[in-house]
Amino acid sequence: MDEQLDGLYVGCHLSVSNGYEAMGTAALGLGATTFAFFTRNPRGGGARPVDKQDMASLRQLLDDHHFGKLVAHAPYTMNLCSSKPETVSFARRSMAEDLERLELLPGNYYNFHPGSHVKQGADEGIRLICEGLNEVLVPGQATNVLLETMAGKGSEVGRSFEELAQIMDGVKHDELMGVCLDTCHVWDAGYDIREGLDDVLDEFDRVVGIERLSALHLNDSKNPRGSHKDRHERLGEGTLGIDVFAQIVNHPKLRHLPMVLETPQDLDGYGREITLLRSLADTEQVR
Ligand code: FE
Ligand code: FE
Ligand code: ZN
Repeated sequence: MDEQLDGLYVGCHLSVSNGYEAMGTAALGLGATTFAFFTRNPRGGGARPVDKQDMASLRQLLDDHHFGKLVAHAPYTMNLCSSKPETVSFARRSMAEDLERLELLPGNYYNFHPGSHVKQGADEGIRLICEGLNEVLVPGQATNVLLETMAGKGSEVGRSFEELAQIMDGVKHDELMGVCLDTCHVWDAGYDIREGLDDVLDEFDRVVGIERLSALHLNDSKNPRGSHKDRHERLGEGTLGIDVFAQIVNHPKLRHLPMVLETPQDLDGYGREITLLRSLADTEQVR
């Protein structure tokens, strides 16, 4: 099935271990029209060497099959606002390298966790994040960089829309910036998307600007709203419930965005969740 009639860009997190084109092939097999992947080992360390031919093959595949924007994910360990200067400089160097490499897959997204300020406080964390982004972002680059909304576990920065807005405010080339909203994270941070999705989106619009909203991570949550835990659950099996995902895939402000699953699933499970999301979409709305 090459053409998806529902117009949704939906997919899941995939492993880059077999290369770039292989991710595209795997995505096709799942009925996906977007996906995410780690730009390097999530536990830290180096990125694999660039295989330009492999990336060109993926580009062709994405084009042939009308994929939406991909949402590459920076490693979790990358912390732009660590209290250790060597961790900060490693994070900046990693991000610069990742973005340079993504020039070979132009027009996609690079999503990252703003970071953990440890004991420095959110304001100092935000200052460091902005300083890092101002060093790394190159005007005219082919990739937009997305801040992920965080659950507020430990000293995570990005637990509120205000913190994300504060980061945007401090970035010189903010035209290169957007937000990836993670449903589990915002719920765990305290935003009631289950009973008040529109209110939360209005608040996002007031504080950040809805035009900044670029991608979604679709995850149910194992914990109650406001728990600041960040434990993902399969769609419909957690505290969010399936209704909110049905609202999301049909929402005029959301349905055009790339939607990436990060639920605890194997590939077959992802395939089933992608099918489920497509079945929840009201195809009449697209026509
Ligand atoms: Fe993430
Ligand atoms: Fe996420
Ligand atoms: Zn998470």
